[in-house]
Amino acid sequence: MLFTELDLHEEVLSGIETAGFEECTEVQERAIPPAMQGRDLKVQSQTGSGKTAAFLLPVFHRYVTGQIVPEHKTLVIAPTRELADQIYQEAKLLGSSTRLRFAVCYGGVGYHKQEKELNDDPQVIIGTPGRLMDHAKSGRIKFEQFGVLIIDEADRMFDMGFYPDVRWMVSRMPGTDVRQTMLFSATLSVKVMNLAWEYMREPVEITV
Ligand code: AMP
Repeated sequence: MLFTELDLHEEVLSGIETAGFEECTEVQERAIPPAMQGRDLKVQSQTGSGKTAAFLLPVFHRYVTGQIVPEHKTLVIAPTRELADQIYQEAKLLGSSTRLRFAVCYGGVGYHKQEKELNDDPQVIIGTPGRLMDHAKSGRIKFEQFGVLIIDEADRMFDMGFYPDVRWMVSRMPGTDVRQTMLFSATLSVKVMNLAWEYMREPVEITV
């Protein structure tokens, strides 16, 4: 399936063209339509499947068409800084024809640049658990404002011991009646399934 067949807003299609994508990967073809409608998603897919665009593009579409109000921010939680940075780079590229702003927050580097991005009122914040918690404690991130939550590589999040941090963050967000939640994982272990059960409402299940 071609991206042009997906009914995405032209500002989003323009970003896809800039990135040089034409055909959807399988996970994109199956995840983007329900995510564009605001459904929750539970997706089993590997790195390299195109999962990043699968969750970013419907979110961008919903912002530019006014289906997500600007006060509702999007949080993408990733287990490693490399992954957070990859998502951030892809967001900047795919979102380059929109007015959306992005921030990335991970540890091991200074706070200044991240604080500057957060002060610019970004709609999409991407980060690793520890640093997101640090910014929350200093008041720069308010979890009550997130209308969309994406948990990427949920299985690795568990393996790396981030579950308590994720729990802390999600407990401060609006409930499943307000929030759209998308969970991506290479494996759907019992722990990941429990997380999905607790954090999502009638999720669409996709396995690629
Ligand atoms: P991911 O699985 O999200 O880490 O994506 C793997 C790589 O595939 C990234 O470098 C993307 O930029 C690229 N990619 C994602 N979707 C497509 C697509 N539909 N066509 C061509 N390349 C893509």
